[in-house]
Amino acid sequence: MKKLCIFIEHKDGVPTSNSQKILYMAQMLKKQYGYRIIAIVMEQNSESFIEYLKTIEVDEIYFVTLNEKNKLLFLKEEIDNLVCFLKEINPEVAWATNSSCYRILFPKVAYSLHTGLCAACSDFKYDEDSGRINMVRTVFSNNAYAQISVHRSRPVMATILDEKGTYNLERNLTFPEIHDITDRILLIRDNQAIKIMKELESINLDKSQIVIGLGNGIHDKSDMDLFEKLSRLLNHAAIGGTRELINRQILPQNCQIGSTGTQIFADIYIGFGISGSPQHMQGIEHVKKIIAVNNDPYASIFQHADYGIVGDMYEVANYMINYLGGKDT
Ligand SMILES: Cc1cc2nc3c(=O)[nH]c(=O)nc-3n(C[C@H](O)[C@H](O)[C@H](O)COP(=O)(O)OP(=O)(O)OC[C@H]3O[C@@H](n4cnc5c(N)ncnc54)[C@H](O)[C@@H]3O)c2cc1C
Repeated sequence: MKKLCIFIEHKDGVPTSNSQKILYMAQMLKKQYGYRIIAIVMEQNSESFIEYLKTIEVDEIYFVTLNEKNKLLFLKEEIDNLVCFLKEINPEVAWATNSSCYRILFPKVAYSLHTGLCAACSDFKYDEDSGRINMVRTVFSNNAYAQISVHRSRPVMATILDEKGTYNLERNLTFPEIHDITDRILLIRDNQAIKIMKELESINLDKSQIVIGLGNGIHDKSDMDLFEKLSRLLNHAAIGGTRELINRQILPQNCQIGSTGTQIFADIYIGFGISGSPQHMQGIEHVKKIIAVNNDPYASIFQHADYGIVGDMYEVANYMINYLGGKDT
């Protein structure tokens, strides 16, 4: 029987609306195509949620109990443990919520499983001819739907968007199997890991009103001082950036804005040295005003910007600092 793993979350024992949507999609896949639903819960205080899950149509429940020190699974060894576990289960499909936790975790898991990740999907389509699950997501700034077909790798991994709908979930017909896999997945955390986690949690990109976005135009990590100064003068604007800067280790992973990073809802976004790739632009499509600074007048970010400045990002940042009352550096 084909298996479907769903990574879901709860609030006070009740599935989040995003998790309800995933449960609903999973139940459709089970009802119509006979998939076995394997629910995976990795959170603190999940007892009442597991009690709830026993009452609805899922076949197996695996849970990892996180504590204060293990709020997120992000240590490499823990991700390796999760990957081993998934290899054993060998699901055809793996879906997770689009929460900040899974937006960070799922790309890493997909990479380790040598499969792709369909980010921020809204639905699935079953291809009757091939028996494949295709994922559905919006493209071109929500103006069209596209189906993503995964041909060569398994599982089909996707994060599912929260559409805050109402879902009538099927009650359970059989009692699900329940397994505690906490010891199998988690390591004892050391202080360094806790420090990284605190840093990770302290950035609130999706809640900031002003966001400074940095791209590959930045030369060196030491240049961050300039943009941190600008951030302070802009009422402590949050700093995020493109995947290039995560790859270059100039910014930590949680600062990535885009389809496989965080989606932001700021009033103002100022993008410095960013070309405007579709993956990055997806992360800023809900921003009210986009200001783009790029020394290439043909950079595609200008097509989406409300204000464009063609110029050197360092000169422009210095000018802004000066204008806002800080000293020129
Ligand atoms: C599956 C997948 C998922 C991805 N997900 C994401 C994602 O979530 N987020 C994301 O951001 N990317 C993502 N990417 C990567 C994405 O495709 C682009 O590679 C990336 O966004 C480009 O980053 P960039 O604009 O910083 O770099 P570049 O494309 O290299 O652009 C740098 C820009 O800086 C300008 N510049 C250079 N020097 C200066 C200067 N001194 N002053 C002013 N301008 C200057 C250049 O003209 C250029 O336009 C993903 C890719 C894949 C394949």
